[in-house]
Amino acid sequence: MNIIFLGAPGAGKGTQAEIVSRRFGIPTLSTGVILRDAIKKETVMGTVASGYVASGKLVPDDIVIGIIRDRLQDCDCKDGFILDGFPRTVPQAQALEDMDVKIDAVINIEVPDKSIVTRMSGRRACPSCGATYHIKYKPSADSIHCDNCNGELTVRHDDQPEVVLDRLMTYHEQTAPLIGYYESRGKLKTVIGQAEVGDTTDLTFKALEEFKFPEKKD
Ligand code: AMP
Repeated sequence: MNIIFLGAPGAGKGTQAEIVSRRFGIPTLSTGVILRDAIKKETVMGTVASGYVASGKLVPDDIVIGIIRDRLQDCDCKDGFILDGFPRTVPQAQALEDMDVKIDAVINIEVPDKSIVTRMSGRRACPSCGATYHIKYKPSADSIHCDNCNGELTVRHDDQPEVVLDRLMTYHEQTAPLIGYYESRGKLKTVIGQAEVGDTTDLTFKALEEFKFPEKKD
């Protein structure tokens, strides 16, 4: 099955995508993670993307579409995948259709802007492996180091409150129209993001069950 997680930055789509990915044994493709990795490695793409990411603006469509087009060729995507943070604009969604990528389900995680700003202030990230945590909702074992690689957790530059407000504005202007786009195709279910991660997960799986996925053929 091919699933998209939609939602404002900080709504919890990355966390839910990871959980669903583990449960279904399919990979999560996160454009944010791929872009941050390219920025860290100072690749040509990373250098172009860095200014956009740092200011909370969207990286140009052709770059992110290229990332996803390449990544979808990898063999781990053949039994399904989860898209986290892509598409973020209507042209990106249209590009997926042009690639003949069939989307089975779109889960839209809805959280009010006010709660997003509060949540983002508690977000922590591992600069080494990209894992994300939250000081209250999803702390690492010692709240300081990454559980995966022991890297020291930091606040991402684009999680600073002033950048978060820009990211939210970008979300409402450019990404929120995708809700109507997928609703009109009968693909979208909205999950109200809860204070507890586990409660949002329960609602996410309930929403996914409402999509009748074809049985997996072995
Ligand atoms: P995220 O980790 O998904 O919140 O993404 C972090 C940043 O990467 C965003 O604020 C954008 O600057 C950039 N980005 C990630 N995904 C996309 C996308 N699909 N289109 C354009 N820019 C993106």
